[in-house]
Amino acid sequence: MNLEGTRRIIIAALLLPSLIMAAEAVLLLRSYYQNYRNFEAGKHYAYIVSDAGNIASSIVAEEAHSTTLFLADRSDANRETLAVRRSDLDGRLDRFLALLALYAEEERNLHLLIRELWRVSERLKTFRTTVDKGIASVDQVVGYYKPVSNALLELVAALRYEIEDPDLSRQLSLLVDLLDANEAGLMVAFYGTEHFRGRRLSKQDLETFNQSFAFLTVVTERLSLFQDAGAIRRLQDFDLSLDGRWLAHTAREISAGKAQPSRLMLHRWSRLQDDRTALWQSGIRFALDDIRASGDALALRSRFLLELLVGAMAVFSVLVGVVILLAAKGVAFASRLMRERELLVGELRNAAQTDLLTGLYNRRGFDAATTALLHGREGMGAISMVIFDLDRFKQINDVHGHDVGDMVLQRVAQIARNSFRSQDLLSRHGGEEFVALLPDTSLDDAAALAERVRIAIEAAEIRLADGRSLTVTASFGCSSAEGGKTHAMVNELIKKADLALYAAKFSGRNRVVVDGAADVLSAERRNSQQT
Ligand code: GH3
Ligand code: MG
Ligand code: MG
Repeated sequence: MNLEGTRRIIIAALLLPSLIMAAEAVLLLRSYYQNYRNFEAGKHYAYIVSDAGNIASSIVAEEAHSTTLFLADRSDANRETLAVRRSDLDGRLDRFLALLALYAEEERNLHLLIRELWRVSERLKTFRTTVDKGIASVDQVVGYYKPVSNALLELVAALRYEIEDPDLSRQLSLLVDLLDANEAGLMVAFYGTEHFRGRRLSKQDLETFNQSFAFLTVVTERLSLFQDAGAIRRLQDFDLSLDGRWLAHTAREISAGKAQPSRLMLHRWSRLQDDRTALWQSGIRFALDDIRASGDALALRSRFLLELLVGAMAVFSVLVGVVILLAAKGVAFASRLMRERELLVGELRNAAQTDLLTGLYNRRGFDAATTALLHGREGMGAISMVIFDLDRFKQINDVHGHDVGDMVLQRVAQIARNSFRSQDLLSRHGGEEFVALLPDTSLDDAAALAERVRIAIEAAEIRLADGRSLTVTASFGCSSAEGGKTHAMVNELIKKADLALYAAKFSGRNRVVVDGAADVLSAERRNSQQT
């Protein structure tokens, strides 16, 4: 297996499980994030709702009350109180709208309600100027303040459906009912008071009174579902008490036109209505506090989730880092192993193909190099073979010893290496016989080259350890073939060159004989023997 393949396998083995892990981690992080978003949204809605409920149930009502007082008695004290109430309402409304814009802007279904709230609060501002100019009347008050609290209540009711937390959702339902009941109760109280003051209620006033009373009855029924809330129990206790039953009875009398205006009735009605209103208000305050507390709890949970999210992401990042590090280390290790292996294989191959004494190719190396050369050959030019063999080498061994013989072989190899060209394949074929394969070389050129090598060998002085020096000669045989790319052809060339070498030896050594000339030479030899 090659290096690249191994590298890919290691990377895949390390990264595939990590990818699966990463996908799972992403899913997990997503769900964490979703939960976090839900808690965050719940928290914001809880605050928004409690704000809206508070403004609708008390802040608007307080300004309306101060306005009524001011219209009845334009004293400086009343004017001052009214100014305080107005700036209170304006500040609260501004903050509330800013909060809405920040957190509920994406909620398309709230847009209309927000615009309505803005519209009625602008309308209220123009009413205030008529109040200041003294051209407004008490019976206009409800018509300007009620739409503001209505718009807020609508928002609260709408936000109820945006909330996913079940506890918060239940608390909101309770709040909505309480606010509705409070509104209806205030209307009933207001018109009842007007009636007992002696003002004749118009047909429309009476209708509003009746509707409010009927609505109050329905909502009170609904509120009985929230028995567990302490504030609700106190309200119900009141409704069941003598006073509560008197209020309901009197409201029915007003509705039927049977209740006569009197100071005594006015006094009792107002007092009991105030008591009841106070109970609504405290119920609303409790509900608002509960909602705020839920909001705080949601905030805590979202914070916890956020921390969990950050922690999980940190752990995940570290894991990914470790995996990448391991993968990189693994790949580097595999690369090193493969490189070392390739180096080793190269060295072994070289050792197996090289003649130890001379560093030239041995027979095996020559075969391999020849195969590579034939394989890579494009052209069909001539190939030549030169074989040479040292003359009377046995004598050198005999006279000077085997070591000197070895040294001579090394020198001759060196000379041959320097004399042949880089593209020529040079090999020691055993003993003191050398073979050179010359690509793209004609027989004449091969012979010329062989002659140069022969002269170089002859001319070389080989220094011995004892200071003396000796010279050697060699005999050369050359052969050549046009084109051809087969091993059979190479073997044929070797055979022919060998024959030529044999002829060179026979005709006196230290010479170059080319293939073909060998026949001529043997003919000459026969002739000379005959004579
Ligand atoms: P010719 O001119 O006919 O080639 O005579 P020659 O003596 O060179 O031929 P022969 O084949 O009779 O002798 C070759 C000698 O080469 C025999 C052997 O001792 C010697 N020889 C072969 N291999 C080595 C070697 O690796 N080192 C040494 N020192 N001598 C070797
Ligand atoms: Mg020899
Ligand atoms: Mg020999």
